[in-house]
Amino acid sequence: MDTMKEINKLAQEIGDEPESLPEVTIERGALNSISGYLGSRGFKNIVIVVDKNTKAAAGNKLKADLGGATMVELEPDSNGQVIADEQSIVQLFAGTSKKTDVLLAVGSGTIHDIVRFVSFKMNIPFISVPTAASVDGFTSKGAPLIFRGEKKTIQTAAPVAVFADLDVLMGAPRELTASGFGDILGKYTSLTDWKISQLIADEPYSERAAAITRQSLEACVANVDVIGEGGEKGIKVLIQALIESGLVMLLLDHSRPASGGEHHLSHYWEMALLKENARQLLHGAKVGVSTAIITGLYKNRASQYVKEDIKIDKLRENWEEVSGLIASLPNPEKIRDLLARSGGPGTPDELGISTHLLQESLNEAYQIRDRCTGLYLFNQLKTEEIAIPV
Ligand SMILES: [Zn+2]
Repeated sequence: MDTMKEINKLAQEIGDEPESLPEVTIERGALNSISGYLGSRGFKNIVIVVDKNTKAAAGNKLKADLGGATMVELEPDSNGQVIADEQSIVQLFAGTSKKTDVLLAVGSGTIHDIVRFVSFKMNIPFISVPTAASVDGFTSKGAPLIFRGEKKTIQTAAPVAVFADLDVLMGAPRELTASGFGDILGKYTSLTDWKISQLIADEPYSERAAAITRQSLEACVANVDVIGEGGEKGIKVLIQALIESGLVMLLLDHSRPASGGEHHLSHYWEMALLKENARQLLHGAKVGVSTAIITGLYKNRASQYVKEDIKIDKLRENWEEVSGLIASLPNPEKIRDLLARSGGPGTPDELGISTHLLQESLNEAYQIRDRCTGLYLFNQLKTEEIAIPV
């Protein structure tokens, strides 16, 4: 499958011009092309947004290349991490002016979310410069932000262009690359949840969007060992998959193909850590671990039901197809093996999530969003607390 061709077809299906999609450059030395791109668009007043790490990885080079550009270095919180919250957003607002022509998001997911929000509110375009292949949100519009300690996802702006420099991405810490792989593995259950929701809740479904997302997933699974090695081939496959998954979300204007029950567990854990003011864990690392948990839960629950006894009519009527979808998911052992080969954590223990929080999330996290998922349905059918699947 030529994924970019399929993405353009999806754009036409939806009624968007393919030209409205961000221009994507994925190659070694892509940073060198940014100056020419900015010049061709007439962007003069440039603000480069970094944190301490991404300043070293790409920010300093861009500042040198771009002459008079301003650099805003986002401040970390008391745990030493930059968070997409009010303080970071205000810091960036203060660093931009009415004269600013363009913002450069130089970093991973969090920096993109802060820039995306400010870009949208100030009506200034932004350019994505990922410094790690760590999440699939670079090219989407959704910005998960923390307001007064609560996480909210707001639809904002997508970048006008993406410059993914493989030399920069190959230099990123291995755990960030493994996190990107974990975010992609979550598509096993998010795609299953989307299809289940079409059957049970009549949710709109796009075969093409699902096929593109599955192709991104399969490309990464087939290349897990080279991704784990962190060389050019593996990083290229991974960043391409992450960007494509984001483009699908951008076109659909929602995250359905890329986010299901596995993301709800991950968000629940994130909010619990926020409440404790604990250090945040990498998004994709949480998603990877929760994908193994969710597949175990789905398989475990599905094996316990007798079709005739299922109390939700639509689920009973579609049980053959739903249980077939669940049966086709890889086993949790396989998911954990893939995570280990990518260099990331495979279990809640390795990730640093307690048994208590995991247990609580299996019974509560389905309430996070009004979305029909296997996690939601099995919680509706439960007669007692859902136990941690083994
Ligand atoms: Zn994700």
